[in-house]
Amino acid sequence: MAELRRMKEQAEAASRAKTAFLANMSHEIRTPMNGVIGALSMLDDDQLTDRDQIFVKSARDSARNLLQVLNEILDFAKIDAQKIRLNPQPFDLKHTVVGACQAFQATAEQKGIRIRHDLSRVPAMAQTLLGDAGKLRQVLLNLISNAVKFTQQGEVLVSLKASTPNPNEARLYIDVSDTGVGIPGEAIEHLFQPFYQVESGNRRSYGGTGLGLAICKQIVEEMGGRIQVRSVMGVGTTFEITLDLPLSTNSPANMPSTSAAEPVDDAPPPAAGRHLKMRGEVLLVEDNEVNAFIASMTLESLGVSCMQARNGEVAVALFKDHAFDLILMDCEMPVMDGYQAARMIRALEDEDTARPRTPIVALTAHALTGDREHCLSEGMDDYLTKPFDRDALAATLGRWLPVELEAADPFKA
Ligand code: ATP
Ligand code: MG
Repeated sequence: MAELRRMKEQAEAASRAKTAFLANMSHEIRTPMNGVIGALSMLDDDQLTDRDQIFVKSARDSARNLLQVLNEILDFAKIDAQKIRLNPQPFDLKHTVVGACQAFQATAEQKGIRIRHDLSRVPAMAQTLLGDAGKLRQVLLNLISNAVKFTQQGEVLVSLKASTPNPNEARLYIDVSDTGVGIPGEAIEHLFQPFYQVESGNRRSYGGTGLGLAICKQIVEEMGGRIQVRSVMGVGTTFEITLDLPLSTNSPANMPSTSAAEPVDDAPPPAAGRHLKMRGEVLLVEDNEVNAFIASMTLESLGVSCMQARNGEVAVALFKDHAFDLILMDCEMPVMDGYQAARMIRALEDEDTARPRTPIVALTAHALTGDREHCLSEGMDDYLTKPFDRDALAATLGRWLPVELEAADPFKA
């Protein structure tokens, strides 16, 4: 009994450590990402040269992709509790595979290896399928990223084979093979376990978290497929996905990449906020200089003026002598955090019944489940997950501040 209890405690401690790790990573990555995405969304495309527009576009796309990967990795924290939710839509199979290969072309070139794809064995009727293209892409991205990471010379080959065993369904075989270091036989059975990485000599320098394959397996199995691996040390490794997906009679919904890149749950379509103007004075409480700067510039561009505080204590002091239309409140800050500041502001309002309730919107880099509930339970009214861009901020503020639709300037293209 004592032994069992000890093992149970150990397992629980490991699980807590895992969740804490994910929460920290989420926070640490989201905070600087907020600066990147915010700064990019502030660049006015109209003022850029064609050449610079291309750079800005690829930086924006990459930031969004990175964010998606981050979001999916965070999904992992939820895997224990609830399953990955799939969102099946008609999608173009070849397009998805080619897109995933292209994402690593530059990295591969830098290492002097090639990424090739072979799509010759896909019958025309299996081109458009019904499935979650974003999740499939995520699986491919991780397999290709591993293949590139663990290969010093030679090539990575992604080959796609499809058959149609019946008129409604395609059976897919997707192979990602490399000519890399290989995986020792005794490691194979552990590969798909979370946090597992083959540890030997120089492999430590490869980085990563060891979550990639665990997530791939979860996703592929949720789709009803399986993932297998064969490897020969020093020769190479092949991961093979076998998956049945329904054939789609509809054409893919708009651009295939859009399904993969919506960073925030309630983000409006890009540029929805472009012509919005708002009125009001906002108190911006944020300790990170870069993020505060970007947020204040973004607010200004929306027509909202702002006062700033670097921690909760300063915010409460400012609140005492100023009427704000809204407070944007970071959660984790030195001296006094956002939760405590929100509680104190609500207490001040309770004392002074003549004072209208000021909406408080939490800004948080924690994207884990339960965070929203936490913010709301501390007296905040709304919640914006970092990183956010101009459109997401506009959409959130629009729920609380008076909005005017600015007439589009007829002289501006
Ligand atoms: P992450 O994907 O979370 O950034 P990671 O790539 O280390 O980190 P996984 O994708 O889960 O994690 O892979 C787990 C381990 O399996 C890797 O650390 C590596 O040791 C081994 N591995 C995976 N793919 C290959 C491959 N193509 N060739 C050799 N070893 C591989
Ligand atoms: Mg990986």
